[in-house]
Amino acid sequence: MNPLQPYFRKPQVYITLPSQGRWYKPQDITLTADNELAIYGMTARDDVLLNTPDAMLNGEALKKVIANCVPDVHNINALVTPDLEAIFLGMKVASGDGTMEINRVCPQCGNECSWDLQCQPILDGQTMIDHQDGCVILDQTLEVHVKPYDFRQRGIFIQREYHEERAIRQWETLNPESNDLQKAQVMAQAVDNIAQLTVALVSASISHIKILDSGETVDNPEYITEWLQSASRAQAEAIISAVDQLNKCGPNKNLDVECNKCNHMWQETVSYDPISFFVKRS
Ligand SMILES: [Zn+2]
Repeated sequence: MNPLQPYFRKPQVYITLPSQGRWYKPQDITLTADNELAIYGMTARDDVLLNTPDAMLNGEALKKVIANCVPDVHNINALVTPDLEAIFLGMKVASGDGTMEINRVCPQCGNECSWDLQCQPILDGQTMIDHQDGCVILDQTLEVHVKPYDFRQRGIFIQREYHEERAIRQWETLNPESNDLQKAQVMAQAVDNIAQLTVALVSASISHIKILDSGETVDNPEYITEWLQSASRAQAEAIISAVDQLNKCGPNKNLDVECNKCNHMWQETVSYDPISFFVKRS
């Protein structure tokens, strides 16, 4: 036994997950008796991993950091987006001074503002997912049950968004003389690529569908994908919007900010996901 054992780092904070554990199998995660999750502070190694853009973008580095800070999560791929956001904030609370720096340009005076967000109050004010959330009834015939994106879906979406954005920038560099119409076509193609990906991701977000007439429940992913591909635009949009709404639960990402210089106030969208940092920067 290592005599230094009692001096190993201990959990710094306990958080409540916005999903309250819904959608997880018992082997995915171990919560405390109070239904909380223990979070340990980040180590020096975690910092290095979080600052390695290539490693972060493929998701493996982030997985190592999560495994180190939240050892009671046994299946990181199963973690749903709102829970991940809460975990990222919890990691900030457990490490350093519990703040997160954000930088934005004031739309009024152009000043480059910088704020230190206090992470604990954001965590305290997070939106919990209600047990009725994620159920969409279509035309009184089908009851579709959806869940938020999990770690893997979230990674695929972020990477794709990143590649589309980069492709647009490269195209702009190669075609400096292009007109607005050409630019709009390239943008439209990128939006369409992301929309197609969204359908694939949303299909994987449907946990099961209940046929109201017969009471039969379908949970075979192949049957679900086949049905979604044939669904009307309105039906698909209703489901995409339900998944989107679930993804937005958890810590509030729309914050009121005030310019350091001219005191102009506006609302900013922030992300607590460490990967968004690289996506924007690179
Ligand atoms: Zn200003």
